[in-house]
Formats: sequence, C-alpha cells, structure tokens
Amino acid sequence: SALAEEELVTPPVQISYTQNLINGQFVDAASGKTFPTYDPRTGEVIAHVAEGEAEDINRAVSAARKAFDEGKWPKMTAYERSRILLRFADLVEKHSAELAALETWNNGKPYEQSARTEIPIFVRLFHYYAGWADKIHGLTVPADGKYHVQVLHEPIGVAGQIIPWNFPLLMFAWKVGPALACGNTIVLKTAEQTPLTALYVAKLFHEAGLPPGVLNVVSGYGPTAGAALASHMDVDKLAFTGSTNTGKVVLELASKSNLKPVTLELGGKSPFIVCEDADVDKAVELAHFALFFNQGQCCCAGSRTFVHERIYDEFVEKSRARAQRRVVGDPFKKGVEQGPQIDSEQFAKVLRYIKSGIESDATLECGGDRLGSKGYFVQPTVFSNVKDDMLIAKDEIFGPVQSILKFKDIDEVIQRANATRYGLAAGVFTTNLDTANTITRGLRTGTVWVNCFDVFDAAIPFGGYKMSGMGREKGIYSLQNYLQVKAVVTPLKNP
Ligand code: ADP
Repeated sequence: SALAEEELVTPPVQISYTQNLINGQFVDAASGKTFPTYDPRTGEVIAHVAEGEAEDINRAVSAARKAFDEGKWPKMTAYERSRILLRFADLVEKHSAELAALETWNNGKPYEQSARTEIPIFVRLFHYYAGWADKIHGLTVPADGKYHVQVLHEPIGVAGQIIPWNFPLLMFAWKVGPALACGNTIVLKTAEQTPLTALYVAKLFHEAGLPPGVLNVVSGYGPTAGAALASHMDVDKLAFTGSTNTGKVVLELASKSNLKPVTLELGGKSPFIVCEDADVDKAVELAHFALFFNQGQCCCAGSRTFVHERIYDEFVEKSRARAQRRVVGDPFKKGVEQGPQIDSEQFAKVLRYIKSGIESDATLECGGDRLGSKGYFVQPTVFSNVKDDMLIAKDEIFGPVQSILKFKDIDEVIQRANATRYGLAAGVFTTNLDTANTITRGLRTGTVWVNCFDVFDAAIPFGGYKMSGMGREKGIYSLQNYLQVKAVVTPLKNP
C-alpha cells in the first residue's frame, strides 16, 4: 500500500528557530550562509538553517570558555544547577506536543513514538542527571606518611559534542544531561539532517535559567563545523555519536590537536539470538521490533537474527507475515509504525544493500523495494537463508532490512555472534536461565538485552566493545566522562 501517495498531515508546529545559539543569542552564521533542511516524507525543504563553520565554532567555543572560566555556572551551588535542569525538564514536558511534531517533521519517525516514548525518556534523563548534580563528590584517601589527601572531582571544562540524526532529541539528552550536571559548558554540533529540535530545546534551557554561554548549539556539516570542534585547542573533551568511520576521523583530530579525551558511540551489527525453547510468536515480535524500530535506523538494531534450526522455518514464515503487516506511511498518522528513511543518501544506501542481499542469494521473503514514489519510504524487507559472509550480514545497513540466519548450538552461535568488528548490543530470547547466562557471558557487547530490547533507561550504561566505540554514556558512567580528578596533598602537622 503506497501510503505515501495520500494527502500528508500538516505538522502542528511552526519552525521558530533556525539560527545558531551562541552565548544565549540566536545569531546568523559568520559567513551569512544557510543550508536547507528537509521533510523526509517528501524530500521538500522545510527551512533554511544557519550554516555554522569554523568561525562559528570559534565563537561558540569562546563563549563556552568564558562561561566556564569566568561565568557563574561552575560557581553556583550544585543544587541551583540541579534546579535549572529540573525546570528545563518541566518546560520540555509542557511543550512536548510541539517538540514531538518538530522531531517527526525533521526526522520522519512516527509522531506517537516521538511523543509517547522519546520525549518521556528525554525528560526522565534530565530528572536523573538533575538528581546527580548535587551528589557528585570526591574522596579522601589514606596515603602512607603524614599527609592529608583529598581527591576532588571537578568539571572537565568546555565539552564539544557531535550528535547524529537518528535520535536528535535523545542524543542531545545523553550528551547534555551529564555534562551540565557536572558543571561543564558545551558546544553542541547537531547533525546536518536534523538541526531543528536541539535549537528549540536549547531555547527552553535559557528560559529555565541557564546562563548565556553554557550551552551553545551550532548547526552545520561534519567536515567543516564538526571537524573544527573536534580539532579545537580550547575544547577540553569531545563526545561523538555517529558512524565508525567518522569516529576514527574525530579521534584523530582530537589527538592531533590538544589530546582532548574522546568518547565514541559508533556503529553496530547486533545479534538477536532466538533459542530453541522460545515461544515463537513472542520471539518474532521482539526480533521484529529489535530491527524495524525507528525505520531500522538504530546503531544497536538487532540486524542479525540468529534462529535455532528447530524453530527456524516457523520463525521465518511468521517474521515475513509480521513485516507484511507493518504499517508504513505518514508518520503523523495514528497507527503508523514506520515513516520514511532520513534522506536520499540513506535511502539509496538501504536499497543498494537490499540489491546486494538478492544478488548474494539470500531468500527475499518480502519487501525489497521503495514504497510509493515520493519521499524516502522503504518496504519492510526480510531475508532468510542469510550466510555470515554475505554483505548484508556484515555491514551496518541502517534500514528496515531483517536478515535471518540459522544456528544449531549455543557455542556455535556465540562464536558467530562475536565474529564481527562491532560489539554494541545483543538480544537473547530464551526462558532457560542457564542458556541465558552462558550466552550473555560469552557475548562481547556493551549491552545484552535478555527477553527485551531497546530498553534505554537513564540509569543503564550504553556503549560499545571493539569498533562500536569507547566509553559509556548514561548512568554513573557518563559522569566520569565529564569530570577531572585532582589529588590535593597536604602535610599533616599533628597526625
Ligand atoms: P551518518 O553516516 O550516520 O550521517 P556520521 O558519522 O557521518 O554518520 O555523522 C554523525 C555526526 O558526525 C554528524 O553530526 C556529522 O555532521 C558529523 N561529522 C561527519 N563528518 C565529520 C567530520 N569529518 N568531523 C567531525 N564531525 C563529522
């Protein structure tokens, strides 16, 4: 059904902010340049946004530097900072309908997902880190000799943060929440595909009482604005989420400039392992969600569905039926599960991988083409008889393309699940505790979801083994990314 042909819903929101937000002010790019941002439902331009480049990054970093070195943010009490984070979360909740509409308009994800899942997770994350702000403290340690030794945990300084387009608001939250809770200042570079919601929420942050210069948001492209941020001499820490190739580039820029510490959250090819004892209907539904959620545009997507041979045929049959029932269409419409891919480049890439799957003799169970004739909609696609060495089993596709592989025993599936350069996440579906324990301990991934998937609670750390990244975000682990450790040693007169 070519739902994309129907009349499109008019997004119930205006685009109010398109300039860069530097030192608390919306400003044009230094060059005066703008770039277009699109509606992925149609490929049409919805706004022109200030195009930040090196000079804009310089200005934003100066503002962040000044706010950190001389401003009141690091000096105010942690409790006051916590209150600002809470007030901000309240404002986001108040504006959640417009914000969800803006997120869907610019990204293409279902409105119900933006409004009911992502904004609540966003708000919860700021509540979580607001709770940490006044509980971050150092220690004293018992050194040999007559010394009083304090270990102070101090904010690291100016944080540079580069985020992707698949979850514009959630990536903002994962980066900004912990950095501000620790008392840092920020220059955030959004993805060129999705600049709009970060500007909107950054404005709300200022309404909540955030001092100017603490959070600066620059829109622009990677090789210009992003690279300028990664290589800036006055940025004290870099946090990046995106592709593994770009992760390597920013790590190199950071090391060539001032050795700023870098956290990286990169690509994945996550296994979803369905064991022989599984309730097939439930396993099919969860494996479907693990792959197709967010148009398949998740770094942790369960993109290798390993199914035990005993239930394989039934699983494939039911997975095909489930994918054929998936509702694709205008993401603003109620009941729509899947919107368009983000842009023409990703759309073309997904279709290329589908072609490669067909050419490599995997069995195309359903889908396999675009949907409709405008926008970037792709049919939910399922391949069976996928072999480990096929491109569709090795590369990150980042689209609604499920690859189903067959396995015989647990040792074999652990070995095959680990035979990838990635190590971001994994799913295991079984009711057998021993099986679950054996597999979870055998997998080399930063997250293992057992009988669930894509649980993104603020308190749970997230990050990758191997080429899926370095460091962890969320939970207590993200605090460490934004703190320096200072040992203060004082001789004791009267021990
Ligand atoms: P994707 O392929 O999913 O778009 P990227 O890793 O290219 O992933 O993009 C993630 C983020 O990294 C975006 O904000 C993008 O602008 C930025 N980026 C891309 N290239 C560079 C670069 N050379 N230096 C710094 N940032 C970059």
